[in-house]
Amino acid sequence: MLPFAKVRIAIVGAGFSGLGMAIRLKQAGTEDFLVLDREPEVGGTWWVNTYPGCQCDIPSHLYSFSFAPNPNWSRTYSQQPEIQNYLRECSRRYQLEPKIAFGCEVTAAAWNDESGLWRLETSQGSLRADILIAGAGALALPALPAIEGRREFAGSSFHSARWNHDVDLTGKRVGVIGTGASAIQLVPKLQRKVAALYLFQRTAPWVLPRTDRSITEPERRLYRSVPLAQKLVRAAVYANFESRAVAMTVDTRLLRGYQALARWHMHRQVRDPRLRTKLQPSYLIGCKRILVSNDYYPALARPNVDVVTERIEKMTPRGIITSDGRERGLDALVFATGFEVDSWPTLHFIQGRDGVTLADRWRERGAQAFLGTAVSRFPNFFILLGPGTGLGHNSVVYMIESQIGYVLDCLGMMDARRISTVEVRPEAEAAYDAELQSRLGNTVWASGCASWYLHASGRNPALWPTFTFRYRRQMRRFDPRPYKLRASSPRDASLVPDRGGLDVVV
Ligand code: NAP
Repeated sequence: MLPFAKVRIAIVGAGFSGLGMAIRLKQAGTEDFLVLDREPEVGGTWWVNTYPGCQCDIPSHLYSFSFAPNPNWSRTYSQQPEIQNYLRECSRRYQLEPKIAFGCEVTAAAWNDESGLWRLETSQGSLRADILIAGAGALALPALPAIEGRREFAGSSFHSARWNHDVDLTGKRVGVIGTGASAIQLVPKLQRKVAALYLFQRTAPWVLPRTDRSITEPERRLYRSVPLAQKLVRAAVYANFESRAVAMTVDTRLLRGYQALARWHMHRQVRDPRLRTKLQPSYLIGCKRILVSNDYYPALARPNVDVVTERIEKMTPRGIITSDGRERGLDALVFATGFEVDSWPTLHFIQGRDGVTLADRWRERGAQAFLGTAVSRFPNFFILLGPGTGLGHNSVVYMIESQIGYVLDCLGMMDARRISTVEVRPEAEAAYDAELQSRLGNTVWASGCASWYLHASGRNPALWPTFTFRYRRQMRRFDPRPYKLRASSPRDASLVPDRGGLDVVV
């Protein structure tokens, strides 16, 4: 049973987005909220993804909340258990646990115009809320490829994001399909324990060296005693990653330097010219997520690894047959094949006006949201890490924090002016999206590769097209002008800010 029947704010997801929102609400003195998460623990993607080698490709000093720094990170790039632990620690430090319903699956969330409330149906009962905040990320539903005979495979098979720890892969013949950010982390770990590893590569990725190292105890002591020192390191890491945006979004010719570095990295680690040819990417670096690893190429160069570049034809009970007619016998198969980004669960259960779901709204052209946060015809609804806020060059936690600040400012305005409903105008949403898409057209992500960033229509519903500090700037204050506002009562209508140009309903 849920602890409340009605809250002011319902937050879906207890990952970085949902926890960050909850912490900042608490810091702002708001207690009337509930976080709902289907998992038994906080962490979101960092709870669910437990594949061997799972870690973050953004350094920990930056991939963490600015308002909850952790001076005790053990490495510059953290492994999944340490990130998960950090989020659990945040939840404890801010006493969030009583505010989170764990194991609580949201099955429906519908806006009711008459009551001006969201009604949520969950596996633990119903909940009404004035405000709904979606903090459930888009990389949630594993994508399993439509390979003929996939279900006939007799060995064990699972997706990277649903790692089956009961299956011991030691000494086995294991196939891995995919060479994205997840595969590059798990392949070196598997290589060490399996008898044979067949890596089925459709597209060779660009891989840069990783500057991972242990953080020494004296460094940690310094961060504990002089928090400013950690802030400075965080700022330096941020500036370093942010500088990538110049090449990715302003002048893509500068990417040649990154390509040269990646080629040098590969040549240094792979001696066999035939393997090098297989591993040579054929698209502009950055068009897909840039991968970083020091142990991926060395693993591929080991004698028990075969990089298979022939197209997968079909699966049999014994293994995989490729386009050259060869069958590789497998005991187990790992799908490191990414996520269904057009169909993540949240899209299907959130219904705005007239029962239309986000999935219905976004089916034709992919997702869009004003400032990546508000959706027309979905009143009092905010989406964290929503459309157009993903990053190909920096830490998404920075984007999440920008959004959280914006939502808080909006909530403060609603309280102060006694506004019951905010709803972005469709024309503001459309104009914002047009501007975003036009900017994205000049970036590396539009340079011609196939990536999960792109919708079938050709739009890029995923990424922010420029420097992240620009996003932070536009999110600094909640400007009510692009919104329709509804006053709590006719008496309160006079409190609605600057009625000139505003569509105020009383
Ligand atoms: P992904 O980047 O979408 O990679 C999926 C891989 O599977 C690609 O190599 C793809 O090939 C391949 N693939 C898909 N269908 C296939 C098929 N039918 N036959 C052969 N190959 C197929 O997925 P991911 O590696 O799970 O990463 C997804 C996102 O999660 C990342 O971009 C990133 O945002 C996030 N992530 C982040 C980290 C981190 O360190 N922060 C770590 C892991 C994941 P093609 O390239 O040819 O499509």
